Amino acid sequence: MLSYRHSFHAGNHADVLKHTVQSLIISALKEKDKPFLYLDTHAGAGRYLLNSEHAERTGEYVEGIARIWQQSHTPAELAPYLQAVRDLNPSGQLKYYPGSPLIARHLLREQDQLQLTELHPSDYPLLRGEFQKDLRAIVARGDGYQQLKAKLPPPSRRGLILIDPPYEIKTDYQAVVQGIAEGYKRFSTGVYALWYPVVLRQQIKRMIADLKDTGIRRILQIELAVKPDSDQRGMTASGMIVINPPWKLEQQMKSVLPWLHEQLVPQGIGHTLVEWIVPE
Ligand code: SAM
Repeated sequence: MLSYRHSFHAGNHADVLKHTVQSLIISALKEKDKPFLYLDTHAGAGRYLLNSEHAERTGEYVEGIARIWQQSHTPAELAPYLQAVRDLNPSGQLKYYPGSPLIARHLLREQDQLQLTELHPSDYPLLRGEFQKDLRAIVARGDGYQQLKAKLPPPSRRGLILIDPPYEIKTDYQAVVQGIAEGYKRFSTGVYALWYPVVLRQQIKRMIADLKDTGIRRILQIELAVKPDSDQRGMTASGMIVINPPWKLEQQMKSVLPWLHEQLVPQGIGHTLVEWIVPE
């Protein structure tokens, strides 16, 4: 399988949402000096060239990060994320887009650690190359779901676990819930952030029902839709499901999402949502 390449989609509206949430969680973890682990189960290539054939073919970033990265008045909640994008593009031209591992690398401190896993034979060496000189990082080629058993709990007992599969195989909708349950059994105080696409709403409803059945509490759902739900092919929305979110995250996302929606979807269609799936 493994036909999915994130280089076609880097910097699109779904990445903007995902990486905003990721950077806010990391910023919250940094409020304490104690180190933490950043575990990325589906890490991708790390860096994406936006004028590459892949990115230019879909042009998705044009309606995503390109709309906001250079605006002078952006909400404070976007500062850590946009700084990571700007630091990768010091010339002022949007040439590269940082994937989740590079955003984490930008935001993590000396005492923190990264554990990154990627399965694709072309993306793994690119990711490994990015982190060759970074002593905080371990980059592995393998199945990301296995890491939820093998690497948790971290010695520091603090961490963010990002789970971001391509959902190119339908079993991913069940595998993510199973993986979270495995991880949570070992490390119930970790912050888990699961990305999901809305292609068929029914798949997401089922995934959320399965997640509720695990008995896990404190589950927050954050969603940005750029179109109404549809039975046709294609992603209409994406979301992040966050278990044990930092206490400020709900308010931060309620404050920033309407602005993001306005910028990314000037036609005003779609919706935003910040809601507890399971509260305390
Ligand atoms: N997290 C990245 C980011 O935000 O920049 C993007 C990741 S992309 C959506 C999903 C990645 O998962 C792809 O690069 C794909 O090759 C990889 N992948 C697919 N199945 C995997 C598995 N079982 N374990 C680890 N990686 C996998």
